[in-house]
Amino acid sequence: MDSERKMSIMDINDLENKKVLVRVDFNVPIKDGVVKDDTRIRAALPTINYLIQKNCKIILMSHLGRPKLPDIEKKYSLEPVAEHLKNLVDTDVFFSPELVGEETRALISKLKPKQILLLENTRYNPGETKNDPELGKELASLADYFVNDAFGTLHRAHASTVGVAKHLTAVAGLLVKKEIDALDSFLKNPEKPVLAIFGGAKVSDKIKIINRFIGFADYIAIGGGMAFTFLKSKGNPIGKSLVEDSMLNEVENALQTAKSKNTEIHVPKDFKIGHDLDTPFLENNMPKVVNADSIPNDAMGLDIGPQTISDFNDLIDKAHSIFWNGPMGVFENPLYKEGTLSIAEKLLQKKTKTIIGGGDSVYALNMTLKEKGLSLPPEIHVSTGGGATLEYMAGNVLPGLEALDNLA
Ligand code: AMP
Repeated sequence: MDSERKMSIMDINDLENKKVLVRVDFNVPIKDGVVKDDTRIRAALPTINYLIQKNCKIILMSHLGRPKLPDIEKKYSLEPVAEHLKNLVDTDVFFSPELVGEETRALISKLKPKQILLLENTRYNPGETKNDPELGKELASLADYFVNDAFGTLHRAHASTVGVAKHLTAVAGLLVKKEIDALDSFLKNPEKPVLAIFGGAKVSDKIKIINRFIGFADYIAIGGGMAFTFLKSKGNPIGKSLVEDSMLNEVENALQTAKSKNTEIHVPKDFKIGHDLDTPFLENNMPKVVNADSIPNDAMGLDIGPQTISDFNDLIDKAHSIFWNGPMGVFENPLYKEGTLSIAEKLLQKKTKTIIGGGDSVYALNMTLKEKGLSLPPEIHVSTGGGATLEYMAGNVLPGLEALDNLA
């Protein structure tokens, strides 16, 4: 697939001493000027260290949050990230208070091999999200090579991901390569049986990937809020549970197609219920469990129940390749976290080829690793991109990847 055609940083022979512009994903949580979680910064270190080894002058750029222009809100400045990066690399890190302009050019001209310059938030510039061709050209004029290592933004066609790549040799960084290789290997050579577990709030967000997995996967397990659209389309009463009526036809078609393509779609057999999101339906001080065909009119399903956990665990036991995206319930509330955490724990025990994508699933996995004192087995690939992972797995083109140069 794409990664085989695309050039990566390893394919450039004359990197030594070059000026290299790298699009990274430093969209990290910052509070009171301090980086709160540096996972994304650390994910870019292999590429940064590779460029340091090659004596390159390294120019980094990233977006941070969604600034509402024309205001330049200070809370979206990347300056704290430059400070944080100083602790993670064995070289000098400088910061430019602008993306492009005289100051950036002056700072680049002073840059010595191995040194790093981080540019200010790409999204402070109105041309970024519009993929303004002039901005793309200007960015490209800063360097000899462009490296895209921001896997999480490959599905966006912006000036710093797509526009810039038109004007100079543009290649994938080591994180992008690792991610795409993992997803490609899953899509191309999955050891059967294949299981996909989908959860989360909206079926409309995931119907495309569900349809792609029909015929490809042997089993699809559906949990989370979107399970109720499946149940409603089968005629089950769902009370006040989350539902997307506009998706009923699509879901019915998916269920039909799955039958003809030998993909078993498993929906929950029981749920933990609540009166609403904040008021649990208690029985013996615990959220009441009901069968999927007996959800009371005034209740909503908020997590999968014990029978469903057991069913989904059995599917995990049978599968040799697993893709998981989306929580099984409202796992942010401790009363309804069991379904999601039990999937995470079972996957950690199973240790088969697994891809986990999406912020909530990854968060649940990390929570389980911490609570159980476990470490991540090498068979599990945790994808750093939510939207990008889903789009790629659904078979969509990622503009940021398409924009990179092909191998000769
Ligand atoms: P998504 O971004 O579509 O993956 O959805 C994630 C959100 O779905 C989380 O915030 C969950 O709280 C929510 N969610 C999961 N299960 C349910 C449910 N049964 N009812 C309402 N919301 C749910």
